Amino acid sequence: QNLAKHFVIDTNFLGKPVSVLKAVDGVSFSINQGEAFGLVGESGCGKTTLGKILVNLYRPTNGKLIFEGKDLTGLNEEQRRSYCKDIQMIFQDPYASLNPKMTIGDIIAEPIIINGLLPRNQVEERVIYLLNCVGLARHQRNRYPHEFSGGQRQRVGIARALAVEPKLIVCDEPVSALDVSIQAQVLNLLSDLKEEFGLTYLFIAHGLNVVKHISDRVGVMYLGKLVEIAPKKELYSNPLHPYTQALLSAIPVINPEKKMERIILEGDVPSPINPPAGCRFSSRCFKAQEKCKLSEPIFKEVSPGHLVACHLFE
Ligand code: SF4
Repeated sequence: QNLAKHFVIDTNFLGKPVSVLKAVDGVSFSINQGEAFGLVGESGCGKTTLGKILVNLYRPTNGKLIFEGKDLTGLNEEQRRSYCKDIQMIFQDPYASLNPKMTIGDIIAEPIIINGLLPRNQVEERVIYLLNCVGLARHQRNRYPHEFSGGQRQRVGIARALAVEPKLIVCDEPVSALDVSIQAQVLNLLSDLKEEFGLTYLFIAHGLNVVKHISDRVGVMYLGKLVEIAPKKELYSNPLHPYTQALLSAIPVINPEKKMERIILEGDVPSPINPPAGCRFSSRCFKAQEKCKLSEPIFKEVSPGHLVACHLFE
């Protein structure tokens, strides 16, 4: 609810902030149990920061993070740590997120041991089971990350996240660093695991094409704010926000008759240190009106489950 994460970039001689980067700036949404919520936006829109708030890597500057009815932001560090097990993350870069000095068996076993989930003599069996779940063989457990391809490393990252039986997994652009030919395999694996274990995902991605098959609902972020949320089918068939329309028009389609006219956005994304007044998208919006530069649109529900922040729908 109303989550914000601001980073102080510069202070004056009194130590007062003079430059603040508003990476996430008042974001409210919910994820239902068993659902995959896709979160999409360009680089720097705050989606990864939001994911890191959820897994306790960042403390929010403002707002509440409510998990199973409990406000985690009100807890002290020790109390919050007990929830860390329930919310895991699959990181974007499978090359940087695995310790190169540990075998993949040890990498997967580590969270099980740290959280005291199993007696030591049962950990090995569990590691082999998890390797099997992600499509890796038992004999590979004694190998090191550098002996694996990018796709296989991401499978190890998935097994590590699954090791503690989390309730929510934040998938932070898990396929963006992989070859296109491997991306579909990893997405299918995540989809199958969701069905098999009843997992809940926050699935972060750069473009709407990646989240299309895996998500039940999709949220679109721009410059630290959510601009649209809708059930998947509704968002892809009836996008309301001009930014969502532009993102959708960029997806390549096989059938040229189904292709939307490409919307080219002018200019670059403005700096989150000094965002435009009024609607943050106003400097690039092809439907902007005078009012858009003066007042910020309210994020409101325009049809069941479909929320949008745009003056055109107020
Ligand atoms: Fe465009 Fe105005 Fe809507 Fe913002 S509020 S998206 S500038 S039309």
